[in-house]
Amino acid sequence: MSCPRCGSRLSQNYITEPPLCVTCGWEYYDYPLPKHTRQRNTLMDGVSSLLRYIGFAKPLMDITMTVHVKRDPLLQAGVGIVVSCPYDGKEMKAIPKSNRGRARYERAYRCGREHRVILMNSSNGELRGWMLQEKVYDS
Ligand SMILES: [Zn+2]
Ligand SMILES: [Zn+2]
Repeated sequence: MSCPRCGSRLSQNYITEPPLCVTCGWEYYDYPLPKHTRQRNTLMDGVSSLLRYIGFAKPLMDITMTVHVKRDPLLQAGVGIVVSCPYDGKEMKAIPKSNRGRARYERAYRCGREHRVILMNSSNGELRGWMLQEKVYDS
């Protein structure tokens, strides 16, 4: 492709930017740039999301809980999530997974006042919502 103004070859540094003539500075603004690829469901630093209650207790249906993504160099993924208690907004701590098998898509959290919730993941790692964790008596 050549420049309509001076005939020099246009150069394009990035596929996401319009081609540019380095000789005269003409820029091909109408260049059909590739459509943005669909955002993947990766966790992004600084993003908060509201999780819906997805259990069966009617009074809880309207309660959402906040999950905030924050950079955490200690984690393999580079980011971790900060979970706020749906009852009192306190930061919740992850409860280590039990060996009960079915917990593959669940992650349990509790706050300092012993509110316990479970965050449900779908198979692609996206958070689906939260549920109450039944009282578990650690032996
Ligand atoms: Zn030019
Ligand atoms: Zn709480």
